[in-house]
Amino acid sequence: MRYDRQIMLKKLGVEGQLKLLNSRVLVVGAGGLGSPVLFYLVAAGVGFIRIVDSDKVELSNLNRQILHWETDLGKWKTASAEEKLKSLNSKVEIDAVNKPLTRDNARSLVKDVDLVIDALDTVEARQILNEACVAEGKPLIHGAIEELYGQVTTVIPGETPCLRCILPLSVKRRRFPVVGAVAGVIGSIQVLEAIKLITGIGEPLKSRLLLFDAEYARFDLIKISRNPNCPVCSSLR
Ligand SMILES: [Zn+2]
Repeated sequence: MRYDRQIMLKKLGVEGQLKLLNSRVLVVGAGGLGSPVLFYLVAAGVGFIRIVDSDKVELSNLNRQILHWETDLGKWKTASAEEKLKSLNSKVEIDAVNKPLTRDNARSLVKDVDLVIDALDTVEARQILNEACVAEGKPLIHGAIEELYGQVTTVIPGETPCLRCILPLSVKRRRFPVVGAVAGVIGSIQVLEAIKLITGIGEPLKSRLLLFDAEYARFDLIKISRNPNCPVCSSLR
């Protein structure tokens, strides 16, 4: 009954629902993007979800990080997230990892999952995650937001550009402005990409970057190519 309204989709059906149940997803970041990503993955019945985050909930998070509430101020985001997600769907297994993603732990966090969702907020951490996903051959669904804009693309190692092909290595870290609902749009699209990859429905955002401009209510799709000299993925065919 819980999944009845999505099992009703002929393209998904019981078979697709079982694929979701048997799938393992890593979400790195339990903040602005991580909130809608985690809510919808859990609601959709993805069987195993690993959450990686090492921050505590602050008041300035609450305009966009809808997993965390006033009663959570000062708590670890992983603990706050796990509590909400368990009360939404107790059947889903949650593995909350209260650590930052580093070069030392990235591959072991990625290794035993089927796909990875980038809900991070720095390019440096994204590049670490990208390298681990390419090394382990795991699909990576990238999302990013700032101000009234967002972007999504799906990386399939060896087939599509990786994040090193299309993003800079580092960007000066700063507090950036963002309207919370933009995280809702981009995070929701990332979950749809995950559901499509897991169930085989439709065409993922492979070698395409989806750009969202809330200011003028526009979506644009641009074609992106692999960098033949990419230090991360060029050795893969
Ligand atoms: Zn690359």
